[in-house]
Amino acid sequence: MKFVDEYQDSELAHKLARRITALSTKPVVLMEFCGGHTHAILRYGIRQLLPDTVEMRSGPGCPVCVTAPADLDKAIAIAYLPDTIIATFGDMVKVPGSRSSLQQAKAEGADVRIVYSAMDAVSIAENNPEKSVVFIGIGFETTAPTIAASVLKADEKGISNFHVLSFHKLTPPVVKALLNSGETKLDGIIGPGHVSVVIGSQPYQFISEDYGVGCVISGFEPLDILLTGDNLVEQIEKGEPRVEIAYPRGVKPEGNKQALKLMQQVFDVGEANWRGIGIVPESGLKIRAEYARFDADIASPVSPEPAKEPEGCRCGDVVRGAANPLECKLFGKVCTPESPVGPCMVSNEGACAAYYKYASDNGARYD
Ligand code: SF4
Repeated sequence: MKFVDEYQDSELAHKLARRITALSTKPVVLMEFCGGHTHAILRYGIRQLLPDTVEMRSGPGCPVCVTAPADLDKAIAIAYLPDTIIATFGDMVKVPGSRSSLQQAKAEGADVRIVYSAMDAVSIAENNPEKSVVFIGIGFETTAPTIAASVLKADEKGISNFHVLSFHKLTPPVVKALLNSGETKLDGIIGPGHVSVVIGSQPYQFISEDYGVGCVISGFEPLDILLTGDNLVEQIEKGEPRVEIAYPRGVKPEGNKQALKLMQQVFDVGEANWRGIGIVPESGLKIRAEYARFDADIASPVSPEPAKEPEGCRCGDVVRGAANPLECKLFGKVCTPESPVGPCMVSNEGACAAYYKYASDNGARYD
């Protein structure tokens, strides 16, 4: 197949779904790591196509959703500092922190600007040399190389007022943390497509080798996801877990070496704090000592009050796959995209936002 619409062919999708139904003899739980997959699964009604034996759970693949409340509070505290401009992707602005939000800080006079890339933030710094410009670096391995490139660009141009607050997170260590916790028994993992374009499939080998669980990296069209489900169910039925790529038009086993090199040049691997999961060793990226002058943790130190989760919000459970959004009592009543209580309802990749947007339209199964 060459064109995207070929990956949306309804007849082929039903054929694949029938094949999965014929293959599947026992209940299995598949986790889609990536928020993009969650949205595609709900948008295209893929759950309804699958047999009752195949349950799908969303995982910690929405970068805004997994940003820990303490980290969010830190970003908000920096926004209130004098002579500071916060530059951030749009999703972060509406996420409620423990006591405020970036949106509220902006309403109270803080200079909070939405940017579409880290390079935009470098330009803001260049044009405002008297201010400290702090870019909130969130995201997984997908975005980290571009943010590394922005640090190198600021260095090359001698821009000293550009700083990155690095909340970047790494995928394989958190998959390991979920498998170690055993809270939800997973039979297969739908590997993240965009992340894997950068890191390849090799870093996931431990999933099948150490845990006996299959991992198939998927694209984002309906046939991509159904092919992935078919592959995983077949692996499970045969008792042959493997790591495979069902998205070869985007992912190579070795990943993108240039992007990986950029990341390694600017970042060191360190622990990261995940909403709902806590501190996971070696699951984050910190700015290397060589580039410490671009590190917002050093340039703009703040000590916000201890963080707390929004009352009643189950985002922490949702990102672990321990609950689905409909199990949250606030869903659709108190918490909506217009008035979100937690990040999973704010972000374009959040599971609650996906359920809110698509589930009632297509009669999705809520399991
Ligand atoms: S519905 Fe709202 S409050 Fe509930 S888990 Fe989702 S984002 Fe949090």
